[in-house]
Amino acid sequence: MARISILGIGYVGVVSAACLAEDGHTVVAVDVDPAKVAKLNAGEAPIVETGLTPLLQRNVARGRLSATTDVSSAIAETDLTFICVGTPSASDGAVGLNYVKQACKDVAAAIRQKSTFHSVVVRSTIVPGTMEGECIPILEQASGLTAGDGFGVGYYPEFLREGTAIDDNYNPGLIVFGAIDPVTEQLLHDINAGLPCACNVVPVATAEMIKYTSNSWRAVKVTFANEIGNIAKACGIDGQLVLKVLCSDDKVNMSPYFMRPGFAFGGSCLPKDVRALRHLAGEREVSTPLLDSVLTANAGQIERAETMVENAPGKSIGMVGISFKAGTDDLRESPLAELASRLISKGFDLRVYDPSVSVAYAHNMGGSGRGNGIVPDLKERLVDEIDELIEGADILLVGNRYEEAVEPLTEAASTKSLVDLTRIDPKMRSGGLYAGICW
Ligand code: NAD
Repeated sequence: MARISILGIGYVGVVSAACLAEDGHTVVAVDVDPAKVAKLNAGEAPIVETGLTPLLQRNVARGRLSATTDVSSAIAETDLTFICVGTPSASDGAVGLNYVKQACKDVAAAIRQKSTFHSVVVRSTIVPGTMEGECIPILEQASGLTAGDGFGVGYYPEFLREGTAIDDNYNPGLIVFGAIDPVTEQLLHDINAGLPCACNVVPVATAEMIKYTSNSWRAVKVTFANEIGNIAKACGIDGQLVLKVLCSDDKVNMSPYFMRPGFAFGGSCLPKDVRALRHLAGEREVSTPLLDSVLTANAGQIERAETMVENAPGKSIGMVGISFKAGTDDLRESPLAELASRLISKGFDLRVYDPSVSVAYAHNMGGSGRGNGIVPDLKERLVDEIDELIEGADILLVGNRYEEAVEPLTEAASTKSLVDLTRIDPKMRSGGLYAGICW
């Protein structure tokens, strides 16, 4: 069992302290507010949270949980510190780091007095890059030690929801952490062992980003549900029932599908149906700022790809994929077709490898909108072999992922510009001749 100090007896700190003590760890909670310290030592909860008081009472009585205003003694008695202080908005909306910076200084000064290895893990919500750019330099300067060697460092975001925080602790939907040293990483594994959720170990800045992504996503979900509810109401439909039924589909609608950063959405349904819903909402005088912005954002993604191609040297483009997704010949509202036609109108010489569309043309199949004329002379632009496409191009533009094209494209990326909208190889990152739309 670990010996853990927790800075900040707020919503996050006190719940963590209570649950970790309940799990058998020895926990010393620290706060600058003596009233909170006194309350905790009396086994009383400083916040209202279901199920918290019995955990505090039991573990204070057992001697596993105590509180102090003295950081040095807490650090001296423990091997691992969680920083759970607040990060309120600054006046311009930026993350406020004053409490985190002070906590890092306090912890580092105490580590300086220790002869044994100590790990410092931040749980406060901080924007990507804060650990590397702010916390670690402060910790190193104030301790006189090197991070990762003289002391351990990690970032371990908290995803609890107030009101169900204890249950969220024991039944988490997501566990994420990053550490710069193996000791800290192992401690975080040990603490989470036994929970019914896998640990996602990621780089520290990625963990910082995941926390913001999680909260932004939650915000989008709420806004989306509200907008649907507003339209449903205007139509006399129970919006809560609509979403309840939708969310009963945990196979597709609530799954990771559609949750992969990349190129714009398209096809014959999504853009059309979003437009229709907005139109309906307009008729009922319901405003839909979120749905409006979804389409604006989608159009922006096409422009982004266009700029990427324009920034690459050369005038001849070899495009992989033209239909709205791999494996279909459907060109209706394909954002790739839109992109191709824009590039052609700007004077680029563009050829296309898309086996699905080639097959459709070869078999003279109809009904999928292939003849809609968005891409001028598409039939003449199609090439049957990926090698032929690569050979004749200055710029390779990858819109859809076809397995047989992956190896030739990754090889070609050492000599030709590759603009990748689908991430053909998860290892590739922008730099040199390679440009990915989101990575
Ligand atoms: P809070 O304001 O309730 O608690 C912070 C505590 O830290 C306060 O008691 C304060 O006195 C104390 N503190 C400040 N400086 C200190 C220092 N130098 N040493 C010791 N104690 C100090 O904050 P919270 O709601 O628990 O949130 C903490 C962090 O966790 C924030 O970054 C927040 O964004 C994040 N978070 C919050 C929740 C939530 O639901 N509240 C969930 C996940 C993450």
